[in-house]
Amino acid sequence: MEEKTIQIAGSITVDELSKALGLSVTELIGTLFKNGIVATINQRLDFETASIIIDELGLKNVKLERKNTSTKTSDFRRELSDKAVSRPPVVAVMGHVDHGKTTLLDTLLNKKTVEDEAGGITQHISAYQLKHNDRLITFLDTPGHEAFAAIRQHGAMLTDIVVIVVAADDGVKPQTVEAINFAKTANAKIIVAINKIDRDGADINRTMADLSQHGLQPEEWGGDTVMVPISAKFNQNLDKLLDMIILTADIEELKADVDIPAEGLVIESHMEVGKGSVVNLLVTGGELKTGEFIVAGPTYGKIRTMLDFKGKPKGKATPSTPVTITGFKELPSFGDRFTEVKDEKTARKMALLNAQAAASESADTNVTSSDLLRMMNVADNTKTFNVIIKGDVLGSVTSVVDSLKLIDTKGEITLNIVSTGVGDINENDVYMAAGDNTVIYGFNVSVPINISKMAARDNVPIRTYKVIYELLDDAKHEMENLLDAEIVEEDQGELKVLGVFRTEKTSIIAGGEVLTGNVKPGYLVRVIRNKKFLGEAEVTSVQKEKIDAKELIAGETGGLAMKTNSKIDLQINDRLVFFTREAKKRTL
Ligand code: GDP
Repeated sequence: MEEKTIQIAGSITVDELSKALGLSVTELIGTLFKNGIVATINQRLDFETASIIIDELGLKNVKLERKNTSTKTSDFRRELSDKAVSRPPVVAVMGHVDHGKTTLLDTLLNKKTVEDEAGGITQHISAYQLKHNDRLITFLDTPGHEAFAAIRQHGAMLTDIVVIVVAADDGVKPQTVEAINFAKTANAKIIVAINKIDRDGADINRTMADLSQHGLQPEEWGGDTVMVPISAKFNQNLDKLLDMIILTADIEELKADVDIPAEGLVIESHMEVGKGSVVNLLVTGGELKTGEFIVAGPTYGKIRTMLDFKGKPKGKATPSTPVTITGFKELPSFGDRFTEVKDEKTARKMALLNAQAAASESADTNVTSSDLLRMMNVADNTKTFNVIIKGDVLGSVTSVVDSLKLIDTKGEITLNIVSTGVGDINENDVYMAAGDNTVIYGFNVSVPINISKMAARDNVPIRTYKVIYELLDDAKHEMENLLDAEIVEEDQGELKVLGVFRTEKTSIIAGGEVLTGNVKPGYLVRVIRNKKFLGEAEVTSVQKEKIDAKELIAGETGGLAMKTNSKIDLQINDRLVFFTREAKKRTL
């Protein structure tokens, strides 16, 4: 049979799919109908639904492929012209929690931020620049905790060089490995900073050996990864680290075009009273100036003010420069690409087009695979966990959402994000949550008193957090509560029937010898004859020498009374296997 590949960008209509498969529309609609979906010719099916249907049709020669239409971070690096000029490297500092990322950035930038962090975690991605030997280096301050895996991944996409911080007294840890993987995925150069070398337990060689195990061979040992032993806290060898960053940047010949419309990425955005939208951008090409019009996803604006990372006004931002601007009409999303356009009319038009494109990519799917599974009733015991996420800035909302999606529910729980937003929890959130078993999570936001009262009245749980992993722990716990309990059966003992005194419709009295374990009132019983299961009963009382006893143990003989649901015709030599059955709460 001829192999066939069908590409699906987001979703496909029944009509398109039938044409692609070479089937009649009626046949396809018929198959959908058999699976519980009443579809029209223009109905859109998502990728998973289309795959399930193709499977149902037994079309083994057809392969479905997702067509990537995303214009997000991954594909933002553009082809350079021969007029491109050199630009500063964009460096991200990553590594395991507590290995010293914040301290390193602090010492480098000579500022203290550690004290302000809730739970000791840098909550927002931001960017700084510093000068070393007259050369600029841009640092992305990527958050530390694993929960921010998602945000760091976005960060890595912007990054030319990843400095992986590993504490010499602790070695390679899970987030170190994660950072190595991110750097590799992002095609960034890796420099390792072996930190805390001032500590007693520091072992540079062991740390290097550890890193070699994870594919990073130190230059000293003939490999190609630069590793610099440092003490971030006591400012040891940091100049060497910066030298290495500049050297790596030089080898990479990092360049950007400047005579093109300005472009770059949104790295943070939030609303501020009196200022409106405050957005951090990293320019990746062109030159951004105040007064220019820019578009990011479905939003646009005219740059009203532009500040550098220290908060000083900046007239012009060149590639690799982080800036904070005001002027966007609505908040753009973290990770959105922005571009400069010539006037307001173009900006409005492009924003509208972007909004339409996004809508047709996601919202246009009217049959999703979970609908299909539900309708097909294919052992679909999935439960839905409804949440509303509010955060102080878009970056945190994105992180919380992305991290929630990373919780492995083993396919048993569907996470349904009812809505997300920036700002305090409000009336509307409570309205949306009411009556639908929805939890509202707030991250770094407050709950006005009238809103807590309203939520209490409507039985809507509101949980607020300042530390993301506490929020995630809670969400995980909530999801575990949704799981069906696990039934655990445990064998307790076995008895050989030596006499049957009475068998009635729902009760049996018999006697015998306990071969193994014990038997107590309350135990459940499997009646077995020649390895065949005859029925189930429950022990109601136990007798030893005709007197009620608490239990009989192996080697003892005695009598038992049992109740059953339906008559079991017990006979001499049958085996009774005693067991307990418990419903145990499950964990994820
Ligand atoms: P992060 O979670 O990776 O950002 O780690 P931090 O920068 O918050 O550092 C965690 C702890 O390690 C703090 O108590 C720091 O003071 C300490 N620390 C960081 N770097 C060094 C270092 O070079 N030497 C020593 N002795 N302590 C350090």
